[in-house]
Amino acid sequence: MWNACAPRVCPHVFFISETGTNSFYLRDDGLNGDRVAGDYIFTSEKCRYDPNIAMPPTDPDEPVGIYQNNLNDLWVDSDYFLITPSLAILNTNVPAVETVMLASNIQVSAHLINLVTTNRELQRVLRIGGGLTALTQRIYSVLPDAFDFLPFFSTDHIEYSNRLTSANFVSGKYMPVSRNFTGTGTSVFDNTAAFGSSGRLKAIPMMDIMERGINSSQNTAHEISHHWAAELSTSLFITSGDGHYSPNSFINSILGGQYKAVTNTGPGGGYIKRCFYMDYTNATPLDKYLMGLISTSAVPPVLVSSNTLVIPCDGVVSNFRAPVTISNIVAVHGVRTPGPATAQKDFRLGFVAGSHNRLLTATEMTFYDLLAAHFTKPLASNYPPPMITYGWTPATKFFGEGTTWNSDVLGLIRPTITNVQWLVNGFRIDGTGYPGRTYRLLGSTNLNSWTQVTNKIAGTNGSFSLHDNSQPRPTTRWYKVSTP
Ligand SMILES: [Zn+2]
Repeated sequence: MWNACAPRVCPHVFFISETGTNSFYLRDDGLNGDRVAGDYIFTSEKCRYDPNIAMPPTDPDEPVGIYQNNLNDLWVDSDYFLITPSLAILNTNVPAVETVMLASNIQVSAHLINLVTTNRELQRVLRIGGGLTALTQRIYSVLPDAFDFLPFFSTDHIEYSNRLTSANFVSGKYMPVSRNFTGTGTSVFDNTAAFGSSGRLKAIPMMDIMERGINSSQNTAHEISHHWAAELSTSLFITSGDGHYSPNSFINSILGGQYKAVTNTGPGGGYIKRCFYMDYTNATPLDKYLMGLISTSAVPPVLVSSNTLVIPCDGVVSNFRAPVTISNIVAVHGVRTPGPATAQKDFRLGFVAGSHNRLLTATEMTFYDLLAAHFTKPLASNYPPPMITYGWTPATKFFGEGTTWNSDVLGLIRPTITNVQWLVNGFRIDGTGYPGRTYRLLGSTNLNSWTQVTNKIAGTNGSFSLHDNSQPRPTTRWYKVSTP
């Protein structure tokens, strides 16, 4: 919703090449920056944002100062790639986020975990399959078990060289880790230990690169929704058996069945299937029920056609089954347990971005950090729920029903100093941090070399008290608190 033209056909007037033109070429001929001819790694000419052109205005529901777009100009031969190369722009008036190194190959900011990776693991999982446990174990070696979901952003993109290979069409995936509820068609299990979590982690939603995976919040909300919804028995006729709703159901969910049956006023009568009709501002009632957020009485019946073939968009719906009611669902699966009174409603997300053999730059960290913070941004009660289809908009109201969403990373562990006090024979600092995490008091006489004075594990309420009782102490000493 940047401007009047559709995103896929906008001319790329924002970028200029080194020679000042708007035309770019992707090349694999070993020239003009491309390292090796014929290796199927295509390199663009250098380009930059044209400073003479103002950035498009930000949609009120999207983060300020960010712009994502695909580059149709970089299209040398459409037979090579399934998706168009993308660029993201961060306005220079957006300040860089603070980053802290938690290990030599892990940096974090307020809302992002950046891992140096060596095997392009996320793209492998999206295209081939495989695991992410080696990466998540690294996360838990430096951060607490404080996340329900670890959504992964792609920072690169790989395709099979036959661009129409089916795996190239995967724009996101859901990797289950544990489930602790019943009544949804799934079983209770706990595989958290393999991922390095002590029981909290629920799933890993994975998103493909930029325009493919994060040009709107829909992909991320879809993958998160897989944790609860659309696993009902196919005997109910509303699911397709692969974690999505049947294309012949009219449930209007983010997980499929995004259709509406409208009265056919033309010859033949009956109903017409209208596609992509879901309410993109609120999750469908059945999905909220499966999340444990609303009761059975709030779930309306679902219309399903009995056609054996998938009805095409705008096709005639010739016949319907009896509507599938919540009683039908409960008869097969039992009532969703726990229900609205006790089901989890506070969700913590730790957004992750792996980067191949390097750390993300300050600009990249800021870009992904802003996206993560925005996805979980609280909205005032009277703020209209944003559409999650166009643009990267907060998903908090989409799930709604009193749920709270949080994407803190650095803020989880950062110590807050609450008291600094000289004692008769020492020095004392009180503060709060993450319960069970070690906080160290470091001392220095020259601000260059620091030595540990003492350390404490934060209590169950996060509080700690660090005392320097060493005798004798230097007449002047600088202190700082760090974790670990
Ligand atoms: Zn899906």
